[in-house]
Amino acid sequence: MENIDMENVIIAGLGPAGLTAAIYTARSGRNPLELGGFVSGGQLIVSPKVENYPDFPEQVSDMELMDWFWKQTEQFGGRFKTAAFKELVETDKNGFVQVEAGSTRTSTQDVFGCGDVCDPVYKQAVVAAGQGYMTAMDVEQYIYSKEEVRC
Ligand SMILES: Cc1cc2nc3c(=O)[nH]c(=O)nc-3n(C[C@H](O)[C@H](O)[C@H](O)COP(=O)(O)OP(=O)(O)OC[C@H]3O[C@@H](n4cnc5c(N)ncnc54)[C@H](O)[C@@H]3O)c2cc1C
Repeated sequence: MENIDMENVIIAGLGPAGLTAAIYTARSGRNPLELGGFVSGGQLIVSPKVENYPDFPEQVSDMELMDWFWKQTEQFGGRFKTAAFKELVETDKNGFVQVEAGSTRTSTQDVFGCGDVCDPVYKQAVVAAGQGYMTAMDVEQYIYSKEEVRC
């Protein structure tokens, strides 16, 4: 039989949302695999300066900010790979991934959504990062519930 590597957590997209989810799931010991998509670093890499991200009272360059995210993820064991991710979840008529209110759960039970891809309204890095954290918590709870069933 073919050997298939199973991953605990796969994160598609390396913007603020995906990288925050990666930091938290890596810190929980889940060893996430991050798939880069088309633009590693996300939309912020086309912004010359970010002036409103908390904890950076001076202007921070887009690349510098994303570099901090990457370093923190790697520090806790996150791994990066390039790759495209096919659509697996329901979207609204404008193409936004639909998540349950107050959570990051999508129409597919083991796929969670966060950041601008789910957000037709706010679209800011700090919101995306916050939703990345929510995803990490939802993923942790999901994996934990599966582990409990196996025990
Ligand atoms: C010019 C500009 C300036 C901005 N300035 C600010 C600012 O000053 N402050 C601020 O807070 N926000 C700013 N924003 C908004 C901010 O960039 C976004 O809100 C934030 O990047 C959203 O993060 P995200 O992780 O949700 O998505 P994104 O940053 O869009 O990252 C998504 C990632 O997913 C990848 N991807 C896409 N499709 C797939 C797929 N099918 N499979 C796998 N990966 C995929 C992409 O390649 C990308 O790496 C700015 C945006 C722009 C465009």
